[in-house]
Amino acid sequence: MKRFVRQNYIGEGGYVFAQSPEEIARQSGLSRVARLASNENPLPPPASVVEAGLSALREGNRYPEARPAALIDALRRHHGDYSFIIGNGMDGVIETVVRTVVSPGDRVVVSTPTFSFYGLAAEAQGGVVVPVPRAADFSVDAGAFVDACRGAKIAFLCSPNNPTGNALSVEAVREILDGIDCLLFLDNAYVEFSGLDYRPLMDEYDTLIEGRTMSKAYSLAGLRFGYAFVPAGLLSYLNRAATPFSVNTVALAAAGAALADQGHIDQTVAHVRRWRERFLAEIDRPVSPSDANFVLVDVAPMTGDEATARLAKKGVIVRSCRSFSGLADHYIRVSVGSEQENELFLEEINRL
Ligand SMILES: *Cc1c(COP(=O)(O)O)cnc(C)c1O
Repeated sequence: MKRFVRQNYIGEGGYVFAQSPEEIARQSGLSRVARLASNENPLPPPASVVEAGLSALREGNRYPEARPAALIDALRRHHGDYSFIIGNGMDGVIETVVRTVVSPGDRVVVSTPTFSFYGLAAEAQGGVVVPVPRAADFSVDAGAFVDACRGAKIAFLCSPNNPTGNALSVEAVREILDGIDCLLFLDNAYVEFSGLDYRPLMDEYDTLIEGRTMSKAYSLAGLRFGYAFVPAGLLSYLNRAATPFSVNTVALAAAGAALADQGHIDQTVAHVRRWRERFLAEIDRPVSPSDANFVLVDVAPMTGDEATARLAKKGVIVRSCRSFSGLADHYIRVSVGSEQENELFLEEINRL
């Protein structure tokens, strides 16, 4: 069958998924495992969101609205008068954007180390990925980034960045936007944890796309809902390129209800801020300061894989960062989980 398959999907590579908690529980013989590998919210969605999802399920025989007016209105009420596209997670949004703009041979700039899906999506369209390494302190070299963008179609910048946790200031992003001609996809998956607001940049630049997800702060990772602020002039093209009905009825209803519950976000953000400070203070190893709901821990002289395997034996699932290209192999990424999960992790990491 291999002869039918595109080169992209043969051999090494591809998206790296966290180890399954069931598998870890089985291997470690422990009944409870701490799930700290995927930057999920340990809190379940609030009751109002669950109710909205259940009601929508009753209309499961009908196709969802292709351009859900109520949800777009809800996004406008929440954020202001911007243009939005939605997708099956932010991953779905990234795929739509890349499909709309990247032709075979087009240059796609990616600030690394970072989330792998930009590169995978670009390569799926035949794009040529141009990595721009961050500095040793994980800051972005704006000059190098701008230079790499010459002749490119689109560039990807993640802030706060996965897996390093640090964010660029609004001013630093503006400086980059001033220097480039191509589109910039600013991935704001973790922006709720940062206190930063990049939205005003949408009014200043018609080359900027800001991606958001409900998988992290909003507790909806399993429902797959993401969206993006897009330039008004690009909206109709993006909608034309998108997979039809990519967001299901239940996710649409849940997302609408979730936007209305600011209390859930405030509670989540307070919990995350408290714990990332504790992680920074109490882990006996170098921890990168984080604007997100996870921290990057330097586990040298162990490798990330080794530390991850040893923690898994203790029922703690973290993410080895080996697969993040452009990052040394001695890091793990650890999400802020529930109180119990975090306490267990702290105890075990300091025993390694
Ligand atoms: C989690 C994540 C996403 C994707 O989230 P979805 O679950 O697809 O909405 C996008 N970008 C970054 C940096 C992420 O960490």
